[in-house]
Amino acid sequence: MTVSDNLADTLSVAAIAAALEACGGLAHRFDVDVLAECDSSNSRLMARAEAGAPGGTVIVAKRQTAGRGRRGRGWLSAPGESLTFSLLWRFPPGTALEGLSLAVGVALVRAFEELGIADIRLKWPNDMLLRGRKLAGILVELAPSPRTAQGPAAIIGVGINLRLPAALPDDIRAGAAALAETGVALPEANHLLAHLLAALQQQLTDFSAVGFAPLRAGWQQRHAHADRPVRLLDDVNPPREGICRGVDAQGALLLETADGLQRIISGEVSLRLQA
Ligand code: ATP
Repeated sequence: MTVSDNLADTLSVAAIAAALEACGGLAHRFDVDVLAECDSSNSRLMARAEAGAPGGTVIVAKRQTAGRGRRGRGWLSAPGESLTFSLLWRFPPGTALEGLSLAVGVALVRAFEELGIADIRLKWPNDMLLRGRKLAGILVELAPSPRTAQGPAAIIGVGINLRLPAALPDDIRAGAAALAETGVALPEANHLLAHLLAALQQQLTDFSAVGFAPLRAGWQQRHAHADRPVRLLDDVNPPREGICRGVDAQGALLLETADGLQRIISGEVSLRLQA
């Protein structure tokens, strides 16, 4: 596809399965559903996870009416202008999930690099930036495991701007970016999604075995705010300021402050570049 194609018309279960098969015979690893409309693909998949859906279940939403970001925020998308999907992944017992959303970011940025887009960077903990503006958001939520003996499970939600949704309010639009800006001819929509799922499948398998630590260097290389002055905002504490030194082996942010190096674990924090 080019990003001008209408995703709402082209995405289909059969075409995604065929594209996954073409990506190294992966169709059997995923159970994909394409919804014409839903509130939030993460919410829908959470309900299926609670009912015992297997790992590899994917919901693709052509239209999301209440897409979600972190901290109660919304993710805005529009049919034909956005690619929004959620993947349920069940991990082996004992898997520690620290750094999971960062691992997902590295996988997706690498997948786009393979397609010829070289300048996507990562903003801690969960955003993909194109030339400093938000191209995609990742929302990882823990899902219940049907039996206590099973390992942890996560729902990995991804929203990517192909073009900027027309309904994006001006304040969000100013900080947003879209794949169309790159001018790179991308695969058609079903193949693009299959390519991203294949990258996630590989990364999540690796993450299950070895965690985030071996991925840290890949994250640091693509870090949007390396050694830049930043401010951390949360709902409770005064803003914290410092120099952003990237992440540690668990995916915690390292902030160099006047009081020394602080280690910030994900949670309810938003990061801003200082003016
Ligand atoms: P930030 O720190 O950038 O505010 P966050 O990590 O706290 O983000 P996210 O869950 O990553 O929050 O993203 C939600 C935010 O992203 C929204 O509050 C809005 O500002 C912005 N946003 C919503 N839809 C889009 C979109 N399609 N493209 C770019 N930005 C968007």
